[in-house]
Amino acid sequence: MTRRIAVLGGGISGLTAAWNLASRGSAGALEVVLYEASSRVGGWMKTHTTSQGAVFECGPRSLRVTGHSAKTTMKLVSAIGLENEVLPVRSSSKAAQKRLIYTNRTGPVQLPSGPSWLFRTKPPFSKPLLGVVLRELMAKAGTGDESVFDFFSRRVGDEVTQYLVDPLCRGVYASSAKTLSVRSCFPQLVELESKYGSLVKGMLLDRLNKDATEVSALSQRAKDERWSVYTFRSGLQTLPDTLLTKIKERGVTVKMDQPCTELTFKDGKAMVKSGAEMEVFDNVVSTVSAKVLSQLLCGEQSQLSDDLSSIPCVTVGVVGLEYRAGDILPQDYREAFGYLVPSSESSRILGVVFDSASFPSQDRKDGPSTRLTVMMGGEWFDGLFGDPGSVREDTLSQIALEELNRQIGISAPPSFISTAILRDSIAQYAVGHSAKLDSISQRVSGLPLSLCGASYRGVSVNDCVHYAVEATNKIL
Ligand SMILES: Cc1cc2nc3c(=O)[nH]c(=O)nc-3n(C[C@H](O)[C@H](O)[C@H](O)COP(=O)(O)OP(=O)(O)OC[C@H]3O[C@@H](n4cnc5c(N)ncnc54)[C@H](O)[C@@H]3O)c2cc1C
Repeated sequence: MTRRIAVLGGGISGLTAAWNLASRGSAGALEVVLYEASSRVGGWMKTHTTSQGAVFECGPRSLRVTGHSAKTTMKLVSAIGLENEVLPVRSSSKAAQKRLIYTNRTGPVQLPSGPSWLFRTKPPFSKPLLGVVLRELMAKAGTGDESVFDFFSRRVGDEVTQYLVDPLCRGVYASSAKTLSVRSCFPQLVELESKYGSLVKGMLLDRLNKDATEVSALSQRAKDERWSVYTFRSGLQTLPDTLLTKIKERGVTVKMDQPCTELTFKDGKAMVKSGAEMEVFDNVVSTVSAKVLSQLLCGEQSQLSDDLSSIPCVTVGVVGLEYRAGDILPQDYREAFGYLVPSSESSRILGVVFDSASFPSQDRKDGPSTRLTVMMGGEWFDGLFGDPGSVREDTLSQIALEELNRQIGISAPPSFISTAILRDSIAQYAVGHSAKLDSISQRVSGLPLSLCGASYRGVSVNDCVHYAVEATNKIL
């Protein structure tokens, strides 16, 4: 008998889920229907290309190559025939090596790289970092879930946490290290601490342990050529666009502009309502955010709905800028990846990505230019700019330009501005997130419902792909 499976959401998680079901399920045994609320696929993954050929990413801009989940994405990239479209940044490039943080006292300064940092005092640090390494080796392990800030401050002290770890949290989660759970945001580090008693020791010893994951040809190439991150020649949107074509070829029914409006369960079946239409499925894979899913459930699932709605999301402002000059950035850091601003600094932006440094081939084709992206808001959006529903895009771009002028002296007017306010776009794994997940998975067990997507176990594209494959493998 044919099993019917509904996938809710056509972002990278939903498309991957549909692809895995359609390509691994035996012919005729599965019928897969994907519901997407909007008129496009990709979710937050969205590329805009100007008429002069410049590429601007509204959401994610590059994918990591290290870690277990990165391998799953690379396998997918190969399976859908995108290997020749990959555009890597090599680890040896300046863009990979030179990452900056900005403080009002120092301006942009390079993050530690290389052994000289161990013995010399370099801003923004007040001491050489050798003492920090020694302290880390001796630090006691913690107990229970704690904030990223508490974990690192215990292991490496407040200064390194403030200037190294907190900006990273702002860059990935648009949130402060004091809010986020270390267990949910950096589970590998908690594991190293519990296994080896020290992160430094753990990282060194772990290198000796061979990763048993099967390595695809693309992962091997990334390793051999020492990539740092990658995108695709025409931008990341290539990935969802290609997945859409491939899943349709494999018989998945894609319902665009058809949001699921209600999800109910009866007698081991799931009922998906979209407007006036209702369909019955054997399984549902939800890849929409926990907040959206909580609103689709009703009546008997009110406790599950409450748990899901307790996973918050923050809004991010993204301002893409293009300047008609190749040398708009100061010489010292023109080739850097970009900079992040720690939460302790007064700044109305989270950081700036120097896109042209990483991917110069995505610049406009008719002469020199520089592309930058300013990231804004996150945990601080409402406090700095007001209600995301009423903030104007040109207000955000004006603030971005003012901060660029104040922080790195760019006063020239840009030749192109693209501003996006991405409401509720980044899930927040606050302290206590893992307990919420335990409760959610208990309530879901017994229902024909699988959960994946950025709300639960990783916000990166790689994690979304990996957990979509894992969830659908369980169904298969
Ligand atoms: C500004 C920004 C920068 C980022 N940068 C990076 C980066 O550089 N690298 C990286 O790895 N990650 C990055 N991320 C994270 C990553 O992009 C996201 O976590 C990931 O794209 C989420 O994918 P998803 O499919 O789980 O969810 P989504 O992209 O949210 O997709 C969900 C889909 O469901 C649809 N939907 C909503 N409601 C319904 C409904 N009721 N019925 C049917 N469909 C519905 C939506 O329209 C959407 O298409 C970034 C995120 C943001 C916001």
